[in-house]
Amino acid sequence: MEAYDRLISGYREFKANYLGEDNKEWLKVAGVRQDPKVMMIACSDSRVHPAILTRSELGELFMVRNVANVVPPFEGDGGDNTYHGTSAAIEFAVNHLKVKHIIVMGHSGCGGIGALMDKAISDNTEGYSFIRPWMKIVKNASEFTEQEENTLSKEEKVSCCEKKAILISLKNLAEFPWVKDAVGKGNLHLHGWYFNIKSGSLSEFNKTSEKFEEIK
Ligand SMILES: [Zn+2]
Repeated sequence: MEAYDRLISGYREFKANYLGEDNKEWLKVAGVRQDPKVMMIACSDSRVHPAILTRSELGELFMVRNVANVVPPFEGDGGDNTYHGTSAAIEFAVNHLKVKHIIVMGHSGCGGIGALMDKAISDNTEGYSFIRPWMKIVKNASEFTEQEENTLSKEEKVSCCEKKAILISLKNLAEFPWVKDAVGKGNLHLHGWYFNIKSGSLSEFNKTSEKFEEIK
């Protein structure tokens, strides 16, 4: 079946359940408002679908997906000539929905990180005119110490870069003033997740050990 037709057929199946008896109570509330407790900032990658990975239902996750799950630095102007789609979503999640958790989820084999690490790709490379400037937000993740350069394999360096980029995004996130405020009051918790596509394992950043540790 063609990819597009498969979606239409999936939708028809979905709708039959959506309007079914079991969903009536949920629809009474959700038909009026949303009340998610968790925001997730994930990559656009088709293999890393947060709702499917966590078996979440409609209404549970407030989602942003962008190239390489990047959180830009806070820029207070919110100016007319800027396009802060991710920042607007964070503002809505924290100030209006009052989510309790924000998760930044990265993953293995990330195309955005690949573009950042590939020295052959520059700002002038055709097809990367939006990707390259976007990925510069986490540029420091692709810089390694001399020891890392000498000891890590190419594959390890990519995975290290993917994880460091998550930490840069978390740091940027923590610097949004209302995020900082909510975290300080204990009303909001920030998490870094890393999903390995091949092994299916999900790791969480442990602030004490400063390592990504697999969730068993
Ligand atoms: Zn990705």
